[in-house]
Amino acid sequence: MIDLKNLTIEKAHESLSRGDFSVRELVDVYLGNINSKNKELNAYLGLYKNIDEEVRLAEEKFKNGTATLLTGIPFAVKDNILIEGETATAGSKILENYIASYDATAVKLLKKEGVIFLGRTNMDEFAMGSSTQTSAYGVARNPLDLTRVPGGSSGGSSGAVASLMTLSALGTETCGSVREPSAFCGLVGLKPTYGAVSRHGIIAMGNSLDQVAPFGKSVRDTEIIFNVLAKYDPKDATSVKEELRLKSKISNLKPKTIGIPWHLFETGVDGEVMENFKKSVKKLEGSGYKVVDIKMPYTKYSLAVYYIIMPSEVSTNLSRFDGVRYGLSMAGESVNDSYKKTRSQGFGAEARRRITLGNYILSQGLSGAYGKAVKAREAIVKEMDQTFQKVDLVLTPTVPFLPFKIGEKMDDPVAMYLSDLFSAPANIAGVPSIALPSGINKEGLPFSIQFMAPHWREDALFEIGKKFEIIDEYEKK
Ligand code: GLN
Repeated sequence: MIDLKNLTIEKAHESLSRGDFSVRELVDVYLGNINSKNKELNAYLGLYKNIDEEVRLAEEKFKNGTATLLTGIPFAVKDNILIEGETATAGSKILENYIASYDATAVKLLKKEGVIFLGRTNMDEFAMGSSTQTSAYGVARNPLDLTRVPGGSSGGSSGAVASLMTLSALGTETCGSVREPSAFCGLVGLKPTYGAVSRHGIIAMGNSLDQVAPFGKSVRDTEIIFNVLAKYDPKDATSVKEELRLKSKISNLKPKTIGIPWHLFETGVDGEVMENFKKSVKKLEGSGYKVVDIKMPYTKYSLAVYYIIMPSEVSTNLSRFDGVRYGLSMAGESVNDSYKKTRSQGFGAEARRRITLGNYILSQGLSGAYGKAVKAREAIVKEMDQTFQKVDLVLTPTVPFLPFKIGEKMDDPVAMYLSDLFSAPANIAGVPSIALPSGINKEGLPFSIQFMAPHWREDALFEIGKKFEIIDEYEKK
């Protein structure tokens, strides 16, 4: 019997190296779980075709001594990340029959390690949403409570890890889409520095915000995956060259001072979440961290800025789905008519809402909301830099509330958008952020806190994350 519940990447690697179980056996246990659980959870939209070949290659690596920490580790992949020869729909009807013609760079890097790609996971359509309810392929359920959402937009990936249908998973972050589902499923989620991980082969949502991001059952799991993914890629113009990643200069500094922008969450945060957050702060203080109150007056506008910049980028990105080059194609009486038919049948309501919003915003030109949002973004980036001259890390709850019921917030987009109140600053400023489980409530629903660090300081997030895991473990005893 493999103890999947307590399995981490390192433990799996040790067992595979010792021969306690083989890659085949490990993969078969997860496939068995997919078989028995996925119908109910709807986390996977499909299994990949190459599993057997990947298992064979991984076992060979163990035999010939070239296995690394990730060799033979099962992965679920969000459905907006391309794997050559496999379907990738981004959760949309418009790409229902799309087959990727190349590997995303993140996939290529993981293939080199010999991971096993199990299947593609459910997501909000084109990664727009916080609950996986805008998927064209049905809602996914939260394995911790089947009446609730697993978060979004990468809710299939979080559900798959939390229900032991995979050990690790990839998602993408444009604004919280890995941290929020991590929080809702009791997992660790890392949003890397913008420019750290290649976006090549990701179906774009908002190019100035998107990043590939890992889910893990532990901080160390996300660190192992990040270390493999964080490589310069000439195929992505926003990928930053290794020598320009400032980390090496400062990587030995251990975080000591934590700033909390209390003024950002005086209202709008659920009582239970606030209580848990305060308890987590006490724990950190108790183990020697200095916690100080900070003010971030511009950062307060991150979510508002996001909802100007993101739809603008969405409306341009999604204009490529015109029924000519990719995906669904509906014949019409004229070119315009066929665009209209294809796009109104292919896109769901949320995608259409954001395309409309984005087109409206961009139609005003730079003197309108878009120009203002870009300026506000600059102010937020600056404020973030200044903040990190005073404190090593910034701490907030990950999400202002607990996982909500399926069906909730679907007819109130603004209520849904508030899920990202605390995620938005890191995406807008491009800094890294990690979501960490911080306990459960009486009904077994998970709490989560989030740290932000300066650009390129993922190491500081891993360091504090591991410390917090230990403090939290100790508390449970
Ligand atoms: N909740 C965010 C939104 O709806 C999710 C974006 C993301 O990170 N993909 O835009």
